[in-house]
Amino acid sequence: MTIREIQTGLREKTFSAKEITESFLHNIREKEPQVHAFLTVTSDLALQQAQEIDSNILKGKEIPELAGVPYSLKDAILAKGVPCTAGSRMLEHYTATYDAKVVENLRNAGAVLLGKTNMDEFGMGASTEYSAFGPTHNPRNLSMVPGGSSGGSAASVAAQECLVSLGEDTGGSVRLPASFCGVVGMKPTYGTVSRSGVIALASSLDQVGPFAETVQDCENVFRVISGKDEQDATSVLYEYGDAVDPMQIEGLTIGVPKEYFAKGLDPDIEKRVREMLGKLANAGANVQEVSLPRTSEALAAYYVINTSEASSNLARYDGIRYGHASGMHLSLQEAFVANREAFGEEVKRRIMLGTFALSAGYYEAYYKAAQRVRDLLRKDFSEAFSKADVLMGPVSPFLPFPLGERVEDPLAMYLVDMYTVAANLSGIPGISVPIGSARDLPVGLQILAPHFKERLLFSVAKTVEQIADTSYHSGV
Ligand code: GLN
Repeated sequence: MTIREIQTGLREKTFSAKEITESFLHNIREKEPQVHAFLTVTSDLALQQAQEIDSNILKGKEIPELAGVPYSLKDAILAKGVPCTAGSRMLEHYTATYDAKVVENLRNAGAVLLGKTNMDEFGMGASTEYSAFGPTHNPRNLSMVPGGSSGGSAASVAAQECLVSLGEDTGGSVRLPASFCGVVGMKPTYGTVSRSGVIALASSLDQVGPFAETVQDCENVFRVISGKDEQDATSVLYEYGDAVDPMQIEGLTIGVPKEYFAKGLDPDIEKRVREMLGKLANAGANVQEVSLPRTSEALAAYYVINTSEASSNLARYDGIRYGHASGMHLSLQEAFVANREAFGEEVKRRIMLGTFALSAGYYEAYYKAAQRVRDLLRKDFSEAFSKADVLMGPVSPFLPFPLGERVEDPLAMYLVDMYTVAANLSGIPGISVPIGSARDLPVGLQILAPHFKERLLFSVAKTVEQIADTSYHSGV
C-alpha cells in the first residue's frame, strides 16, 4: 500500500482507518517475535485515533493528507503518554509528557502512531545492537543487522509492520538502516525539521528524517514534518511545497566522488552503484567524477564532534534532573556515579572520549582541529556542487553484516559510517534509495544535494527508483 492508496480507499470507503490500523497491528503481532523492531506497541491509542478519523470521515469532514497512515517512531522522539527510552536503561521508566513537534505535525495530518522503535542507545551505533533491550533483526535476512541507529524504524517499514516511520540521523542513522533494509530513508537539510521533543545526541548534527517504501511516501512525510518551529531555535523558515515529478535526467550533472569508491568498498556494492550510474548516463545524464578530498578525515572529525557534544548533552542524566535513580546516597558524587551505571558500554565510551576531547589542554588539538576539518569539508562540497547538481555514491562500504560481527569492536562499527557522516558535518540533505541487491542483501544508492535542495533530491530519487531493479526476497 502507498499513502495515496490509503487516501483513495478512505475517500471511496473501500476500507476504514480502523481496518488499516488493525491489519498493520496484525502484521506486528505476526512478525515481531522474529524482527523485534518495536520497543512499545501503542495498539489502544492507535485504534482510538483511527476511530476518530473514521468518525470525522463519516461526518463529511475533509480527509487530511496522512489520514489513517500507520507510522512508527524512533524511541528518541517523544509522543505524549507513551514510554520513551532512547534504547537506554537510563530512561527505561520514562513516559513522555508532551509531543515532539514532528509528532504533533503527523497527528494533525491524521497519521496513526503504532509504536516506538528500537535503536542503538541514544543513537550511538550503526547496527541497533547497542540497544539496551536486545537487537533488531533485518527483515530481509534475519541473521543480519538492520543497520542503525534507527534500525527498528527501517525494519518496521521493511517488514510491513507500518507504512512509514520517523528516525533520526546524526551521522547516517536514517540512510544506513534504509540501505540495509531495502527501504527509502532521507536526511533533511539541517534546520528544516524541528527537534523540539527529540532526545539529543549531537545537536549540531542531529536531524529527524522519514522512512518509507517509496520515494513518494517519504516526500509526503517530509512535507508534513518540515517547517519553522518556535520551540527549536535552530529551525529555519522553510516550506517544501507540492510533490515533485520524477527528474528529466537529460542535462542533469551527477558528480561521483572518487573517494567514495576507495579501497575497502565491497566490490558487489560498487558493481550495483556503477550499474545504476551507467543507466543514468544512458538516459542522458552527464556523469562526472568529482573529488571530496577530506573524506578520509571526515570520520575522525565526526567522532570527535559527536562524542564532545554527546558528553555535554548526556550530562543531564544524573538521576536527579533526569534518568535512572538508584536510591539514597550520602553525597552528590556517590549518587552521580551510582545513577550513571544505567548507561551501556558504548555510551560510557563516548562520554569519556568527548570529555577528554573538550578538556583544557586537549581542546585545541582535538575539538578545534575537528571543527577545522568540518569547515574544509563544507568547502569540498561547495566545490563539488559547483560542478554537479547532485552527488551519488554508496551509502556504506559494507553490506548488512551478521549480528554479533562488529559489536565488540567499536572502530569496525565506526567504519560503517564512512560515507554518511559528511552530510551531517556539512548540513546538506541526503537520501538512500534501494537499487537492487548483492549476495541477496539490499543495496542503497546515496544521493546528496546542496542545502535546501530537497525538491531536487526527491525528484532525482524518484527517477532512480523508476530505473532500479529491487526484487530481493524478504526474510519475513
Ligand atoms: N553510527 C553513527 C554513530 O554511531 C550515526 C549515529 C546516528 O546517526 N544517530 O554515531
